[in-house]
Amino acid sequence: MKYQATENGFYGEFGGAFIPEMLYHNVQELKENYLKIIDSEVFQKEFKNLLKDYVGRPTPLYFAKRLSKKYQTNIFLKREDLNHTGAHKINNTIGQILVAKQMGKKRIIAETGAGQHGVATATVCALMNLECIVYMGEIDIKRQAPNVARMKMLGATVRPATSGSKTLKDATNEAIRDWIANPQDTYYLIGSVVGPHPYPDMVARFQAIISKEMKAQLLEKTGRDYPDKIIACVGGGSNAAGAFYHYLDNTKVELIAVEANGLGVQTNKTAATTQVGNQGIIHGSMTLLMQNKEGQITEPYSISAGLDYPGVGPLHAHLFKSKRAGFLGATDKEALDAAFELTKLEGIIPALESAHALAALNKITCNANENIVVNLSGRGDKDMETFMSYEL
Ligand SMILES: *Cc1c(COP(=O)(O)O)cnc(C)c1O
Repeated sequence: MKYQATENGFYGEFGGAFIPEMLYHNVQELKENYLKIIDSEVFQKEFKNLLKDYVGRPTPLYFAKRLSKKYQTNIFLKREDLNHTGAHKINNTIGQILVAKQMGKKRIIAETGAGQHGVATATVCALMNLECIVYMGEIDIKRQAPNVARMKMLGATVRPATSGSKTLKDATNEAIRDWIANPQDTYYLIGSVVGPHPYPDMVARFQAIISKEMKAQLLEKTGRDYPDKIIACVGGGSNAAGAFYHYLDNTKVELIAVEANGLGVQTNKTAATTQVGNQGIIHGSMTLLMQNKEGQITEPYSISAGLDYPGVGPLHAHLFKSKRAGFLGATDKEALDAAFELTKLEGIIPALESAHALAALNKITCNANENIVVNLSGRGDKDMETFMSYEL
């Protein structure tokens, strides 16, 4: 239980809810209700049904034979890429939309950087017939046109954030402003294990389905319900939190988190928070983040839009500081090479984010008798343009 959030949302010294007074009521309402709702029979039944028939769970645990041969070990891929909408993010949006419904909320707001969380949110709002407003930086709207089109077709309103650097952090500021202005009917749906308590704990619980399934699948395939190593990429940290969750207290399992080094940690073009960041408050949470000497958030960079986030969630800050998880980084180029390698060996085109996790196979020691799970957080359709401009 050492790695579960305390009642006030602390993981060691990280977490909590450092929020302006005007948000206190909203966050408190959620904090008081989320566990009651999640533990209720009504919720569990609907959540499980939707994960099964709408999302397509359980996702397979695939033994990657040719990849294993290449690395002289046993590699299993947890296929989150096969979920509806193409990534793990839908596990969380399904969970939160049911919480919002139970709380009687009528209007859903979210922010998105690359648009993946925006699409997953717009999807569940269409499913539940709820109004959906997605804040997105003006620059990101231009960079991520296909996802903007998807959100619109799904019935969401995409509102541009035009202040600051016109990217994710500015969209976050707009979403928070909206929530303060509409405390009664509005639910703020956060897309990763970030933000004030109870969000990191709630999102981790929804993503925990990943390691719950892994336990049963590993038992069936290897005769043991845990692997030797689990590798997952970290943007905010939700797919890694889900893949690690049921193994956090099992120290026989080595947890490996992979951040985006971008062009390299020595350049300032990086998103490797644990390497270049330090302690501070972002998005209402005490955690590790990339900031300048004045404490202002610095702009992260990664070729992969989903890892392009200037912080990590408080659970990951704690896993890093306590050394429970090892943190590695993969550069843009290493991730691209890993994506091409998986595609050629296994016929699976991974998301650029997930390719960072795959790139770690080159950086760790693999033993012949070990079982390693790589969490394949998403599929690469959205990244085809990037892949093609690299190949040419
Ligand atoms: C958003 C995203 C990520 C990064 O987010 P986490 O919260 O760190 O999981 C990773 N992979 C894919 C495919 C994504 O869409």
